[in-house]
Amino acid sequence: MAASPVSTDVDFSKPGRQVGRLRVPRSRDDSGWGTELIPIVVVANGEGPTILLTAGNHGDEYEGQVTLLDLARTLQPGDVTGRVILLPAMHYPACAAGKRLSPIDGKDFNRCFPGDPFGTFGQVLAHYVDSVLLPMCDFQMDLHSGGTGMDILPSACGHALDDPEMMRRTLDMADAFGAPITMVLVEVNAGPTLLAQAERRGIVALSSELGGGGRLNPENLVITQRGARNVLRHAGVLTGTPQVGPYGPSRRMTIPDLAHYVFAPHDGIWEAADPLGAMVAKGAPAGRLHLTEDPDRHAIPLNYAADGLLWCARFAGRVRAGDPVAVIARDL
Ligand SMILES: [Zn+2]
Repeated sequence: MAASPVSTDVDFSKPGRQVGRLRVPRSRDDSGWGTELIPIVVVANGEGPTILLTAGNHGDEYEGQVTLLDLARTLQPGDVTGRVILLPAMHYPACAAGKRLSPIDGKDFNRCFPGDPFGTFGQVLAHYVDSVLLPMCDFQMDLHSGGTGMDILPSACGHALDDPEMMRRTLDMADAFGAPITMVLVEVNAGPTLLAQAERRGIVALSSELGGGGRLNPENLVITQRGARNVLRHAGVLTGTPQVGPYGPSRRMTIPDLAHYVFAPHDGIWEAADPLGAMVAKGAPAGRLHLTEDPDRHAIPLNYAADGLLWCARFAGRVRAGDPVAVIARDL
């Protein structure tokens, strides 16, 4: 495949702290050779592992963005053994707009991997992350929350992996992050995500879910800040051992299949029966879907298809047919 057209003013081989930009081509009506600038921070010192921490993959998820901004301001070369690469607003145009999807090409950046150097803005950027940044990495963590539409219990997330050694290393890193939940999940469409691409490259990698609703949750921010430093300690980039949160060690859970999701069968307004974090039973009411176009029709009752913990709940009131309104987790 062709080389990336993305350039940068940071030198990844140089020791010390560098604050620079990725320059990504963006041709416009009034600027054919226009570019978008994406902030990047590299802190390197001596021989050691490389870890890439990313946030702002989706622009409406804030705990990770603020955590990496804090790290970018405070992490000093003397603290580090190896190299830390930070992208606090990886998909900067979506971050600046406070949106999940790209305001440039309309794509979900986390469905653009492994990317394409001849593709759209998001595909070009994804190809750079995959072909230039990931090959340098021993560890990667992509910080997400639930965004405008969902609210999710704070969790470090990995996929179920075929290689038992990689699964063990992934769970160890997730436990080190130290969120209340370590989650092994099946997603609706994991293939084109950054996490799946890092896994394909044999990198020990995680994503996360750290709240949602399009807000910055202060309690989840504390979890994220502790977690980011914990994974740096776990990787051996920072000294010391990971700190356990006040809720104790992470509870290992799983979402084994899509039967643990409740999907809306129709457009409408979602009225949930339970708050996020409730223990729910298979067959119990999950809530009601109100059909605004027809006052004569009863609201549609929906039931849970599995026992477990209400891990993810619809946050926005309005839903469309096919949207998940609840996701149930069980202990691993
Ligand atoms: Zn996200």
